[in-house]
Amino acid sequence: MILQLKDLDLKGKRVLVRVDFNVPMAKDGTISDDSRIKASLPTVQAIVAKGGKVILMSHLGRPKGVTPTLTLKPCAERLSKLLGKPVGFVDDCIGPKVEEAVARMKDGDILLLENLRFYKAEEDPSADPEFVKKLARLGDVYVNDAFGTAHRAHASTAVIAQYFPKKAAAGLLLLKEIEALGSALKNPKRPFVAIVGGAKISTKLGVMKSLLEKADQLLIGGAMAYTFMKSAGIATGTSPVEESMLGEAKSILENTKKVFLPLDLVVASDFKEDAPSKIIDAPLGIPDGFQGMDIGPKTLEAWKPILSKAKTIFWNGPVGVFEFPAFAKGTKALGTLVANCKQAFSIVGGGDSIAALEQAGLQSAISHVSTGGGASLEFIEQGTLPGIQALEKAAG
Ligand code: AMP
Repeated sequence: MILQLKDLDLKGKRVLVRVDFNVPMAKDGTISDDSRIKASLPTVQAIVAKGGKVILMSHLGRPKGVTPTLTLKPCAERLSKLLGKPVGFVDDCIGPKVEEAVARMKDGDILLLENLRFYKAEEDPSADPEFVKKLARLGDVYVNDAFGTAHRAHASTAVIAQYFPKKAAAGLLLLKEIEALGSALKNPKRPFVAIVGGAKISTKLGVMKSLLEKADQLLIGGAMAYTFMKSAGIATGTSPVEESMLGEAKSILENTKKVFLPLDLVVASDFKEDAPSKIIDAPLGIPDGFQGMDIGPKTLEAWKPILSKAKTIFWNGPVGVFEFPAFAKGTKALGTLVANCKQAFSIVGGGDSIAALEQAGLQSAISHVSTGGGASLEFIEQGTLPGIQALEKAAG
């Protein structure tokens, strides 16, 4: 059991909220995609409406110590614009300066703290056990709304909850993610079709095994398909193959009939945007001197009827080198197929798959676009996340 915002009395309280403002930043220091800030608005607005003081904390990027280019200040400005309301910013996340700024807050005020990861103890709480206590001192209640970081047992995402017994709750975004992903996990409407793409089997082996238990079909694209092909004795040319995963791949293929590999591939002579390419039949193997770059039209035709019967769809990871427009066609076409499956509850997670939908203007046709790539995979695999377990413990 976890507490929700509606279970807590927030009036006049200092509400310490972990959000995920880990937004992509352009080279000139501007925010290139503010979806994660937008995703936090319902929780921030709900706390303001209940008369709480909103103290927001987040990380941005992977700083090693204080890194001026990774300041969260632009996020405070963007949040203020989105809310049409001032948002304060303080250039630290613990210490006297922060405590004074919090003490000056009135009910309904919003304050964003500086990047938590400027302190090593955010990611490695044992490096300084005082860090989390100093953070905890800033709030009367704690809210976790950072789904994208809930798979990390960091100071602000998990460890901190113990300082808020019966006063630690899930924010509205976290709750929405748990409900959407949980419905696919526990009682999926069938057929349940999962699509997994991306670079490596090794990073997604756990989730693939779990999907093989829960889903009726597993469609596999992306570079990981070449490791499966090689494990089945099919030539893969110069494609990236994870030699250490060949055994796992072979055993998956031998033990299930649920896996669907690409029927055809777009292959190229070089890993380059403008490399000459051609389409080949995958079972015949990738010719010497060529590497796989995308799935081909036959694969999409074969997957279409599978998807059009699905009642639940989960998709994570591009099925080609999505960064190169010439090899993004498969991922985009797949996005269109999924978006057209109106009969299904569709869940898409992971930056590249979401970007493909966005570019095609199809985001709104998806039932649930998850704000966490790694977090959504780990939730499917484990059925919970460290950030959620910490809230359960605090709820008693
Ligand atoms: P992941 O983070 O595991 O979802 O992997 C995403 C990456 O996989 C992207 O950078 C894609 O370019 C890459 N990828 C997908 N398909 C291929 C492919 N056929 N060959 C090489 N890289 C690929």
